[in-house]
Amino acid sequence: TKGAAMVTAVASRVQAQRKQIDKVLALFRLTQEQLVGVRNKMRVEFEYGLKKDTHPRATVKMLPTYVCGMPDGTEKGKFLALDLGGTNFRVLLVKIRSGRRSVRMYNKIFAIPLEIMQGTGEELFDHIVQCIADFLDYMGLKGAQLPLGFTFSFPCRQASIDKGTLIEWTKGFKATDCEGEDVVDMLREAIKRRNEFDLDIVAVVNDTVGTMMTCGYEDSNCEVGLIAGTGSNMCYMEEMRNIELVEGDEGKMCINTEWGGFGDNGCLDDIQTQYDKEVDEGSLNPGKQRYEKMTSGMYLGEIVRQILIDLTKQGLLFRGHISERLQTRGIFETKFLSQIESDRLALLQVRRILQQLGLDSTCEDSIVVKEVCGAVSRRAAQLYGAGLAAIVEKRREDQGLEHVRITVGVDGTLYKLHPHFSRILRETVKELAPQCDVMFMLSEDGSGKGAALITAVAKRLQQAQRE
Ligand code: BGC
Ligand code: MG
Repeated sequence: TKGAAMVTAVASRVQAQRKQIDKVLALFRLTQEQLVGVRNKMRVEFEYGLKKDTHPRATVKMLPTYVCGMPDGTEKGKFLALDLGGTNFRVLLVKIRSGRRSVRMYNKIFAIPLEIMQGTGEELFDHIVQCIADFLDYMGLKGAQLPLGFTFSFPCRQASIDKGTLIEWTKGFKATDCEGEDVVDMLREAIKRRNEFDLDIVAVVNDTVGTMMTCGYEDSNCEVGLIAGTGSNMCYMEEMRNIELVEGDEGKMCINTEWGGFGDNGCLDDIQTQYDKEVDEGSLNPGKQRYEKMTSGMYLGEIVRQILIDLTKQGLLFRGHISERLQTRGIFETKFLSQIESDRLALLQVRRILQQLGLDSTCEDSIVVKEVCGAVSRRAAQLYGAGLAAIVEKRREDQGLEHVRITVGVDGTLYKLHPHFSRILRETVKELAPQCDVMFMLSEDGSGKGAALITAVAKRLQQAQRE
């Protein structure tokens, strides 16, 4: 009959549509073999970055940090810390008490307006100093001369713990006249310009390093620091003899891998999708930080958005209508992905979130959106896992051990907020590095506490040197 024919036609259209959606989702499903490939390539890039003759061309930069030891518990005092480059800009006062290993912190979050993030370097650093001034005022510390640790979460070439030349901006920053400059000098000059207080800038620290330090304060097995947040990066303790860029063969030094740049030489092209390419092209730094763009909070929502636009174009979503909202960059923050993927959420609630975002959706739409988010965040967690497997395997081999136990200090909104990311990350590491027993330790505010601890250690070493 006619009715039955119509039902069949609808059913087969639904089936065809499902096929088209599955085809897109499949692009994000990595096989075990592909993940092993990613792990192995990452390992090759680590060695490239460490060796003197390949270092200049290396995309994973393996930057020496001049952080050589963990805190030993004797650190104490009051410190200021700055945290620039994560989700928020913060100024902190950190009080460390020796013996009991206890730390007290006071912090204030400040906004960095877009026009300052992407204005001139002088404006950026003047703004930072203005925030420090406000904070000192607020804490009743005007005129105090405290040692300061600067957590600056961008790739820096360091020649000592208190010097850091910005190699290039990443994430949402693009202030002019900073790349190639020492950020500690820039901060000092801005303090001088203001001519209101003096600060003793002791250390410039990557957020991964602060995170590792914070966890190392409690667990001496901690020799890796991981950030899965706005950006993506990892640091670890390396044997001095393997670091060709720094003299000396004794002991260890922390290496800031800057693994976000993995893939910039094209070695990940085989797993990159058209959506990744679109995200890259629309970013502030096209062609750069390709692994970061497949894995970190700043970009996952953008990948999702690109997929949704494509599915809509294919008539598979939102009744084929590409709204202005959907064309707006940055609408899917990590927060939203985390909410949408929460298993506790009923579909109706997913739909409500989409509606809040201004995306008028049916119930079927919200199912598809959730699937898309799942595919993108799952791939991100697996890629993180492959990278992490490469480093723990390297540490195991370097120590000539059959089995090794390693603690990884972790921080970042993606790791902390997302309902599945951390589990998939852990599972992937287990599969790709079966001889390593990896423990994950959540860092309690690595960027603040860690910077203060590193500052305290540096201060102690400075004093010892003078005596
Ligand atoms: C930066 C790293 C930083 C990471 C996490 C990346 O974009 O290059 O230095 O550690 O983000 O904040
Ligand atoms: Mg941070």
